[in-house]
Amino acid sequence: MYRINEIFYSLQGEGANTGTPAVFIRFSGCNLRCPFCDTDFEDYRPMSVADILDAIAPYPSRFAVLTGGEPSLQVDTLLVEVLHSRGYRIAVETNGTHLLPPGIDWVTLSPKSDATLAIHEADELKVVYTGQNVEHYYQSIKVRHYFLQPCSQTVDGSRTDNAPAVIDYCLRHPHWRLSLQVHKLLNIQ
Ligand code: SF4
Repeated sequence: MYRINEIFYSLQGEGANTGTPAVFIRFSGCNLRCPFCDTDFEDYRPMSVADILDAIAPYPSRFAVLTGGEPSLQVDTLLVEVLHSRGYRIAVETNGTHLLPPGIDWVTLSPKSDATLAIHEADELKVVYTGQNVEHYYQSIKVRHYFLQPCSQTVDGSRTDNAPAVIDYCLRHPHWRLSLQVHKLLNIQ
């Protein structure tokens, strides 16, 4: 059984797949405690592969985004194979601290603070930007797309706006691109 926080249908709001209709499967639990985390991932209900397939079947998209929490703590070969057998393209959003099962179609690596990475290659890198040094990520991680995403929350939970800093940084370091949380701008899930 997998611990599933929620399953919903929306548009991918971040990174290179922004705007793509997707079924989101949010796994409960995370091994990190980022101060700016804006995801409530503790609640869950146990779901089997069959339960998950039943829950996602009504949605017309065959693009499944496995997110969390930290999905790599639970995603396994069985789930990947079954989703593929039903025609789903699979994306995973991970903090990179654990290896993923083989066969994932799209990996978004979003490293947090100084957590040790087990993954150094992915499809896209998404760094939540608070003004920290990010060039070591560019030097050590091989991806097709390098994104900086403005952090919108301070350590004490209040709102902040790092977008101007990201814009300025990308203009001065054009190997990075801006990623916005478009779903929040559009007020969709
Ligand atoms: S890795 Fe992601 S889900 Fe986990 S605490 Fe940090 S921001 Fe939240």
